[in-house]
Amino acid sequence: MKTNLRFIILIILMLVNPLFKAIAQKELSYQAAIDHAYDKYKNLQEGKNADYIKELANVDPNIFGIAIVTTDGKVYSKGDLGQRVSIQSISKVFTLARLIEEQGPRAVAEKIGVDATGLRFNSIVAVELQKGKEINPLVNPGAIAAVSLVKGNDSVAKWKNILDTHNAFAGTKLLLNKPVYISEAGDNLRNQAIAHLLLAYGRMYFDPVQSTDIYTKQCAINVNAKELAVMASTLANGGVNPVTKEKVVSPETCAFTMGIMSTAGLYDDSGQWLYAVGLPAKSGVGGGLIAVCPGKFGIAVISPPLNAAGNSVKAQKAIFDIAKELGVNPFIVTPKK
Ligand code: GLU
Repeated sequence: MKTNLRFIILIILMLVNPLFKAIAQKELSYQAAIDHAYDKYKNLQEGKNADYIKELANVDPNIFGIAIVTTDGKVYSKGDLGQRVSIQSISKVFTLARLIEEQGPRAVAEKIGVDATGLRFNSIVAVELQKGKEINPLVNPGAIAAVSLVKGNDSVAKWKNILDTHNAFAGTKLLLNKPVYISEAGDNLRNQAIAHLLLAYGRMYFDPVQSTDIYTKQCAINVNAKELAVMASTLANGGVNPVTKEKVVSPETCAFTMGIMSTAGLYDDSGQWLYAVGLPAKSGVGGGLIAVCPGKFGIAVISPPLNAAGNSVKAQKAIFDIAKELGVNPFIVTPKK
């Protein structure tokens, strides 16, 4: 009996040991990849904070935070995790996911559109060219239309729905960056013009001024890199928050959302991004960038200075390097022999 037990324990250890080894190695590689990218880019001085929203010009350009949250809820990070910036356009992803969840993918395709416009994120020409059709929920016209469509009979209910959604994706109560909200709300005539033009084409589904205001508020939600990475990881995990275990949206909703992120997540550089990295992603002019590795992890980097297309310079470089080091481009497969 005693010999049998020893034998069984030995077998179990042999089985378990390589498994433990593999898990430990994977954990080490996530952290190592983050550390490498952080060290490589921490002193890079390229790009410039957005300043068309005045308050964004005042944000510390040296903030640099990287976080990965795996679909089993493990967190790896480096840098400024205590510093928050406004989420800006990254919010469009989560309001879109809520809308797909509420009304289904067809409604979004028909009432908004899901093709990249090929024009700037706040292009009025893009709306005019298509008479309000075929706009995209990840650029301003489609995002304001999405806000106008999400559930809520009045602006208070709509805002609550949107903030609750962001909180559920992040697994925490997020706060508003009031100076950024006030700064943009006092200066968002262009977005109001877009909302009114959509209304003229019958493609705005709630009061245009209030929709623009709620949209401006959602862009001013304050986040750090870890919170953003949890939000991205919830998409990676089929809509279940990997930390709180709350079911936020369905796996199908995540798939539709990531489809649009793949074609339109990085403004005019979306094609270049997918070409180089292969992962659905979304940037914001606050300096945040998220990317999703479906089934594995969400990653987020914050660094405010942007390139000409409006994407964070350091964040793009860091995620590119990390994804490469981890070998997670889903388009790279090992050929069958
Ligand atoms: N609130 C910003 C705007 O409407 C968001 C822009 C962005 O991050 O792309 O201009």
